[in-house]
This record gives sequence, structure tokens and C-alpha cells, in this order.
Amino acid sequence: MLAQRMNSFSTSGTAKARAAAKTACEAGIDVIDLTAGEILADPPATVRDGAIAAIEDGINRYTDTIGIEPLRAAIAEKVSRETGQLRATDEIAVTAGAKQALFNVALALLNPKDEVLIPAPYWTTFPAQLAIVGAKPVFVDTRTNNYLPRLQDLRAAITPATRAIVVNTPSNPTGAVYGRILLAGIAELAMEYDLWIIFDECYSGFVHAPRQHAHMCSLNAMARSRTLIINSFSKQLALTGWRIGYLAAPPKVIAAVKALQSHTTSNPNVIAQHAVLKHLREADGHYERALEKRVSRARQSGLKILSRLHHVRVSEAEGGFYFYLDLKDLLSSGSFGGETGDADDIAGLLIEKAGVAGISGTAFGDPFGLRLSYGLAQEQLEVGLEKLVRTLNALEPVTWPLQAIR
Ligand code: PLP
Repeated sequence: MLAQRMNSFSTSGTAKARAAAKTACEAGIDVIDLTAGEILADPPATVRDGAIAAIEDGINRYTDTIGIEPLRAAIAEKVSRETGQLRATDEIAVTAGAKQALFNVALALLNPKDEVLIPAPYWTTFPAQLAIVGAKPVFVDTRTNNYLPRLQDLRAAITPATRAIVVNTPSNPTGAVYGRILLAGIAELAMEYDLWIIFDECYSGFVHAPRQHAHMCSLNAMARSRTLIINSFSKQLALTGWRIGYLAAPPKVIAAVKALQSHTTSNPNVIAQHAVLKHLREADGHYERALEKRVSRARQSGLKILSRLHHVRVSEAEGGFYFYLDLKDLLSSGSFGGETGDADDIAGLLIEKAGVAGISGTAFGDPFGLRLSYGLAQEQLEVGLEKLVRTLNALEPVTWPLQAIR
């Protein structure tokens, strides 16, 4: 009954995990939810005021398909500042979140059977969108290199069918931040093999000191013509539900995206466009700095608690607002009778025994990973992580398989 393409992907693993946490809550289990892909915070006052003013001014009609001109101009200015390269309005498309920007890019640039390199673990939507357009994800394992791809591994994965490479920095789910040398190397590789670079910097507002966000385009001016900058106000301004993201790309790509969007969603929500425009025009950066500070404090406190874990490696979480745990040693430890399970088992056990919900790495192509969001209130985060540490450390003397200890 359904089209064949529906067999090539399923509901996002992160959405499933959030639903599982909700179900547990409804069943009366007191759950601390560390699954959220968003920061639980109020939006900036400029955004709220901008939305209210737009409603009161009776702004309620279609806008230009890829966003109102002043918003595109303000975003062009933002991207110019961030990359150090002057951008024009015809290089910007406003989209319903970064997700639509990514999907537009896949539709506009990829043919069936084209291959796209994706460093793994990866955000679950990257391969799903490729599957929808009939293209093929080619995963490059980063787990033995602090979750960053090695240039030689990327090169080895390139075939005559390769068209693009995904660079997501900071990375969801691992929090890894790409350094300047790596990015410059990727830019050179892309030029050598004539590849697009899908540069997803949705978490660039959360790069924790001393690390800094490096931009593909500022490292190599030549990369500009092949880089598709994907960004969003979802995370940076805690506006996930408002659905405003953007694509910065060569004018030809923007024109193609405009044609696509004209037959799909038309313009992004008009009230949200005006709200973000007011913020870009009037805000002084205080909101963003305060949010990053809050997230950074939560990270430090969380890392301290997680450092007490036995048999579990915790990555540095240099960017974004996720901790990423490597459960491999725990899962294969001799103390579990030599048998192995996967992160789904641990995620299930944590909900049941600790009342803590995280997202199993199976959603990100990694059966040994576990993603925990620290975008919630610090107090709640600390309680959740303490429970998690107690529960996982108590597993040691217990005999595998996990089913037996449930
Ligand atoms: N890119 C990455 C890496 C993400 O993690 C997300 C959301 O979680 C998005 C893009 C999409 O963000 P939005 O569509 O809310 O702007």
C-alpha cells in the first residue's frame, strides 16, 4: 500500500527514544529525560516581542518563498561576519528549520545512487534524507579517533559515485568539534574530488572554551563555491518549535531550492520570520552568551559526575549539549560472563532501574554509544547523572545477559 521508498528509512531513532521516555512517565515511572535535542529555556525577549508585534500588525500572508528580503539580508550579514567573506542576499534561503535546508540540498543536488560520505556516529536524519532521495550514505567510522574522521579514511571511502561529504561540527551526537587542520584537509579533499561539502553548524553557538568553532569557508576561500552552510535558530535561541533555519550557498543552489520550496512548503512561518528578524537587528548577543554559559556550566558539572563511571568512556563533549558515552568496555566486560548486548539494552535498563532516559547509539549507527542531553536545568541533570552512575557502576558484579537482571 505504501510507496517503496518508505521501506528505506523509519521514524527517527531520537523521536522513538523521546516517545519511550514519555510512555515510561505515563506508566508512572519517575523519569529524568536526557533525550531532548533542545535546550529547555525561554526564547529571547526580542523574539517574543517581534512575534507579538507581527501579529498585532496583522502580518499574516504568504511571504517570498525563501523568506522576506530583510531577513535574508540580515542572515547574509551574519554569515559574512562568521565566515569573513561577504555574502549577498541571493546566497541565502530561509527554511523551516535546518532539517528542511538539508532536505532541500539533498533533493536539489543528488541523483539516485549518488554517494555521500557521513562520519559515524551520525545524526540520524542525515542518512534518512539520503534514502528518501535514493542516494546512498557511506559511513566513515570515527570511533577510534575521538569521533573525528581521519582524512585517509575519508579518501579511502571516495568512489566515482561520491558527490558530497557531511561535516557536522560540533557533532550531534558526539559533541566532537572539528579543528582547523582537519577542516582545511577536508576542503582540499573536496576540491580534489569535486565534492559538495554539507557543512552543518547548527550547534556552533555551543563550542566550549578553550575550543573554538572553525568555519570551513574561512579556512579556504576556494571552498566557498562548494560549501552548503546549514544553520538554524533552533538551538542557539532555544526556538526549536518555531522552525526557522537557513541555507547559505551559491546563488544557483539557492535558486533551485526556491523552486523546490515553491512546490512544497512555500515560505517558512511568517510570524517566526519577523520574530527572528527583530532579534538579528536589535539583540546584542547577551542572550546567546548567557545560554552558552549555562550550558557550559552544566557540562562541567556533568563531566565531573560522569568521571566516576567504571568501564565507560566519556568523550570531552567539546561542543553542543550532549554527553556521549562509549559503553563498549562495559558491554563486553568479562564481569558480564563474556556475553555482549548493545546500547539499546543499557538504555532500556536505565529507564527501568534508574528512571533516566538517554538515546541509544543504535540511532546514530553506533551500537555502543549512549547520548545524554545536558540542555535541561542543572539540578535535574545532576540528579539524573548521579542515578545513572550508580546504576551502571552497580552492574559490574552482575552476570550478563541484561535480561536476567531486569
Ligand atoms: N542538524 C543537526 C546536526 C541537528 O542535530 C538538528 C536537530 O537536532 C538539525 C540539523 C535540525 O534542526 P532544526 O530543523 O530544528 O533547525
